[in-house]
Order: sequence, then C-alpha cells, then structure tokens
Amino acid sequence: MSAHSSIPVVTVSSRGATRLKNGHLWVYRSDLAKTDGVPPGVLVHVQDERGRKLGSALYSSSSQIAIRLLTSKLISEAQLLPLLRERIDRAVAFRRQLLRNSDSYRMVFSEADLLPGLILDKYNDVLSMQVQTQAFDRQDIRQTVVEAVAEHFPDCSLFDRVDAHIRQLEQLPPRESQLVLGDTSKSIFTLNGVRFHCDGLGGQKTGAFLDQRENYAAAARYAHGEALDCFTYQGGFALHLARVCHKLTAIDSSRPALEVAELNEQLNRHAHTCGEIEWVEANAFDLLKDYSTSGQQYDTIVLDPPAFAKTKKAVGTALRGYKELNLRALKMLRPGGVLVTCSCSFHVSEGGFLEMLGSAAADVGQRVRMLEKRGAAIDHPVLWGVPETAYLKCVICQVIE
Ligand code: SAH
Repeated sequence: MSAHSSIPVVTVSSRGATRLKNGHLWVYRSDLAKTDGVPPGVLVHVQDERGRKLGSALYSSSSQIAIRLLTSKLISEAQLLPLLRERIDRAVAFRRQLLRNSDSYRMVFSEADLLPGLILDKYNDVLSMQVQTQAFDRQDIRQTVVEAVAEHFPDCSLFDRVDAHIRQLEQLPPRESQLVLGDTSKSIFTLNGVRFHCDGLGGQKTGAFLDQRENYAAAARYAHGEALDCFTYQGGFALHLARVCHKLTAIDSSRPALEVAELNEQLNRHAHTCGEIEWVEANAFDLLKDYSTSGQQYDTIVLDPPAFAKTKKAVGTALRGYKELNLRALKMLRPGGVLVTCSCSFHVSEGGFLEMLGSAAADVGQRVRMLEKRGAAIDHPVLWGVPETAYLKCVICQVIE
C-alpha cells in the first residue's frame, strides 16, 4: 500500500461504478464524490462508495469526463509510463499485422486501444498525434508517446495536431500545432491505391477521414454510371468512384477543401478512367433540392455529412436532416442506382439510422435493398462497453424498382 500512498483516491457513485463494471472507461463528474485538491492529469485510484477498488484512471480536473479508466489493477505512478508504452507497442503491432498493404491508418484510437485521450494517425511517412486530455498533455506522457513513435517509425516525421477547443475544455494553455520529429509535415499517402496530399501544418490543412478507408473501397464495388458525391471534403469518395464511374459531380461548402480535392485529382489523373470531376462549391441541402426538383438523375450517390447531432438533445433534428438528404437522394436514383449513406454522429444509433432510411424509402415509394451495413475501418475498432467508439455508420443500398 505504501507504494501507492501518494496516489489520490476518487470515489464514484453506484451509477459510475455500474458504468465501469459494464465496460465503459468514463465516469462523469456528476458521478464522482468530492475531488477537491486532486491535481489535473494525475493517475488516480478509483473506488466505489463501499471502498471497493475498481482500478486506476487518468483524471481531468475540468472536463465533464472526469476520469478515464486505464486498468482494473491498482498501479503506481512508476508503472504508468511503462503501461502506456506497452499499449502503444500493442496498438502498433496490431496495425502492422493487419494492414500490410496500406501506408495510412489510425495507429492509436484512444479508448479502443486502452489509451483514452490519445489519437495517433499515420499518413505514409508522416504521423500526427492528438492529445485530448490533461493527462496526455503531461510532459512525461508526451515524451513516452514521442519516444515510441521515434523507435517504431525512425524514418517518419511526427507533428502535434492541436485542437484548440479540446484544450479549452481541458483548461490547458493554448499551444500551436508543430513538428515534433523529422523535418516535414507534408506527404503523399495512398488509400486503396488512390493518392492524397497530406500537410498537417500548412496553410490548407490536409489529411483524411481514415475511418472511411474501407468504405471507399466498398462504395467503388457497387458504384457505376453517373455519380454525385455530397460532402466530398478533399475528394475521399469521389476520387475512388472516379475509377468506376464515367461522370462525377462532387459537392462541398468549403472552398479550401475543394481546392485540395482538385490537387488530389491531379495526383490521380493517370489512373482515371472517367472524365474530369466537377467540383461544386455549394450547400448540399440546397443543391440536392434544386437537382431533384429539376429532375436530375444519377446512378450512384454518396452522402457523408458532418455530425449533425453533437448532443443527445439534437438527435431529433439530426434525423430530420438525414431524412431530408436521403429522401432526395433516393428520389434521384435511377433503377439499379446505389446510395452510399453515412452518419458519424454517435448520438444517432445504427437502429435509428436504419429506421430513418426505411422511412425515407417508403416515402419515395421505392423498393430499396440493403447491400452492406458497415462501420469504421478496422484500425478504428469498437471497444465493447464504450458505444462512443462505434460512431460511424455507412449503409450501401440499391434502388431496385
Ligand atoms: N466525405 C468526406 C468527409 C466529409 S466531412 C471524406 O470521405 O473525406 C464533411 C464535409 O461536409 C466537410 O468537408 C464540410 O466542409 C462539408 N459540409 C458541411 N456542411 C455542408 C453543407 N451544408 N453543404 C455542403 N458541404 C457541407
């Protein structure tokens, strides 16, 4: 016990304890007894109201997510860094074993790799780290992460990707995104043979939604004819579809994103079988409305909007937004046409999303069959008990009559 004597002990309510027993790693501040004097970002031991020990966690003094459980063992401060290092090593080994033919993937996915608060992404020879908690912002913990990256990827650079909003929530001082290892944050990376620009620190931030990697390939299996990619960002789906579709329109409301998309298109021009992609800067809601009223038709439509429901309360409004988009898209599909439709709102459940799709199909009076029900790529595993890790839904369906 003496080795642990300096480690603060926090007491969780029975609701908090049940949450942990059911496999979640988070306990909200409202489920903690007083934590006066517990410093930000420290290792704490967790106990229930009867004093039964539930494990060791990382503490945040400001976030609503007050503790993130690391292990159900009671560890000492001296065991913390070796444990984190071991988990990074395991995360790296898992991806290396699984993703032999991809140069880009999520190396560490926070909770799902039992490193709650850390994200590491690999874009070919450039890695980015995102620190999401007070604990992972600690100098010694950052150092552990950087050393692990330097050892596993000696030829890669690493940059620190700062999310100002998260730093505010965690009451951490502002910090600039910067290079930590190597001399460039620029690279060209490949997803399923399609090439993309990456520049984590440049004027135009470039990167990718790595969670969609396998969905891009799946979409390209069914896509054909004339295609429309709504919310294209830097062209993720569009550039994959360009290999199989003869005509493509890609929409986004962000001009800078479309500028990068065009650069990405140039990178892949040699591999294209179709003509040029038409990149359209517009509000996808307005444009879909215009296109559908004017009787425009497509063979393939992709919908990958940003998270509409940021909170539980917003779910109703979000589902109405999804329904509007999906309804218009289904209406515009020719028989045999394929809809690839996604939601990255954790608060919208898979069940709720499928129900919305069913009701949209019924409203337009079409026979629609589901071809695939998908989630995020395998480098973003779902941790049982932590539903937040299962945020992405991607459904591929087909209008058959
Ligand atoms: N499909 C992309 C990721 C989409 S992210 C990929 O696979 O890489 C969501 C995108 O929606 C962002 O690029 C954002 O600029 C865009 N966006 C947000 N609101 C929009 C709107 N109302 N109309 C069109 N684009 C919008």
